[in-house]
Amino acid sequence: MVDPDYDLCVIGGGINGAGIARDAAGRGLSVLLVEAGDLASATSSASTKLIHGGLRYLEYFEFGLVRESLKEREILLRAAPHMVWPMEFVLPHDEGQRPVWMIRLGLFLYDHLAGRKKLSGSKAVDLKAHEYGAAIDKRYTEGFVYSDCQTNDARLVVLNALDAVERGAEVLTRTACTKLRCDGDHWNVSLRDLAAGQEWDVRAAMVINAAGPWVRGVLEASDLVYQGVPDVRLVKGSHIVVPRCYDGDQAYIIQQKDKRIVFVIPYENDFTLIGTTEENFEGDPITAQISQDEVLYLCAAYNNAFRGQVTTDDVVWSYSGVRPLFDDGKKNATASSRGYRLYRHKDMQAPMISVFGGKLTTYRHLAEEAVSKALRMAGRPGAAWSAAHALPGGDIDDFEAFMETKSAKYPWLPGDLLQRYGRSYGTRMERFLDGAKSLKDLGAHYGDGIYEAEVVYLVRYEWVREVEDILWRRSKLGLYARPKTIRNLSDALVALTKEVKGHDEKLVGR
Ligand SMILES: Cc1cc2nc3c(=O)[nH]c(=O)nc-3n(C[C@H](O)[C@H](O)[C@H](O)COP(=O)(O)OP(=O)(O)OC[C@H]3O[C@@H](n4cnc5c(N)ncnc54)[C@H](O)[C@@H]3O)c2cc1C
Repeated sequence: MVDPDYDLCVIGGGINGAGIARDAAGRGLSVLLVEAGDLASATSSASTKLIHGGLRYLEYFEFGLVRESLKEREILLRAAPHMVWPMEFVLPHDEGQRPVWMIRLGLFLYDHLAGRKKLSGSKAVDLKAHEYGAAIDKRYTEGFVYSDCQTNDARLVVLNALDAVERGAEVLTRTACTKLRCDGDHWNVSLRDLAAGQEWDVRAAMVINAAGPWVRGVLEASDLVYQGVPDVRLVKGSHIVVPRCYDGDQAYIIQQKDKRIVFVIPYENDFTLIGTTEENFEGDPITAQISQDEVLYLCAAYNNAFRGQVTTDDVVWSYSGVRPLFDDGKKNATASSRGYRLYRHKDMQAPMISVFGGKLTTYRHLAEEAVSKALRMAGRPGAAWSAAHALPGGDIDDFEAFMETKSAKYPWLPGDLLQRYGRSYGTRMERFLDGAKSLKDLGAHYGDGIYEAEVVYLVRYEWVREVEDILWRRSKLGLYARPKTIRNLSDALVALTKEVKGHDEKLVGR
């Protein structure tokens, strides 16, 4: 018997890995989370950014999945009111789409499948008279409105990692697991620091493989693929972002002739997000990119439903992600289940679980189940806890009231900056604002509303190393930042990273 370095090693810092690390650390386990890139650098920053039941999954009779997702939606609304917020979705209807009775039935189920406390129920709307009809094509005379939630997917991942660390976990980014070897009652986990090139091994009593699209890759590298290990089905989905193309905070869900649906969603104040496509994918998921055909499909989907028109020239940003779906053998990617499977590697003496599939929305429940399962395999106790606890910065009852108190406390902060801080950090904004009396107290201004105080916070607490981490994952400031700002930020990051590290090492007396 060897004393392991950790109770649990989690592979992958997407939403599932971060959620699992948080859950396990909260049960008192010593946890190591390793992420080969930056946190949320793969699928978990490339989603449609909805915390939703998934209305369309009802068509595939996925009642269990929809119920679970709707329950999680309520839990996340409570746990992170700054990061998960309600949004109305307009479903315009015309001939040739799914029949009205079917939509009414679907919405009735959606309203009632799980306890709905915070969101309004669905209703029919007369789009000739209602303001929601103003942006869309005149042929739509009737429609429905229902509620779901929008989130910031990449920041949701970081909040989970942060909470994991505050509960005692260790998180190493830019660190890949290169091999797993079961050695009696524990796992030898080989790691490589991809920035420094160092390699070393750690021992962990349990392993959870949450490498998303690479879940099989991790197993293959360690000769752990044997009969019974599920297959993963890789499905690429892409989005385009265009300058805001209609007024109002409502999103639209547009049915396509090919039976798919496309979301059109207000995004980052000044933009509209349009997605998603769905294509089977082969190759390394990190190379997934939107194709010209996908851009054209999404523009056409918008143009067919809205009065305004967008062209490929309007696209200011696009992104693609790869869903690691559990392969249920369905031919059609759209019909493949968005549920998840937690595969127990039963033939090993030391517990190990691999995660197949899932949704952003269900990550907390998935994490809870995965940790409970691993503990059962190890014959160890540990009660579930995460449903009733806020995520960092989420200790807020009413987000609007919270923002009013912050606006009174920091009257000198421009409204849009305060709003961004509130949505991104919730109560944690105090960590870098407290004591500041004017914008000057936030240190150097790199441009476009990016101040030193925030960047120091991101480097110290949120694993930021590269400028991309800030521009495209900790925030979407990449949509706004001018080249000069990016240069300033890059230069400052080099110095700040050294300074923060040196300062923190001094603080802990190393
Ligand atoms: C287009 C699209 C739209 C979506 N929209 C929604 C939505 O609106 N709502 C919703 O609920 N769900 C949505 N989803 C689903 C959701 O995004 C995914 O289910 C979820 O992000 C998967 O998270 P994950 O942690 O399993 O994988 P990932 O986020 O991919 O994380 C896996 C991580 O493992 C790391 N890794 C891989 N190999 C190693 C290794 N050897 N060592 C260390 N680290 C490693 C990777 O770098 C990666 O960061 C969408 C998915 C797509 C593709």
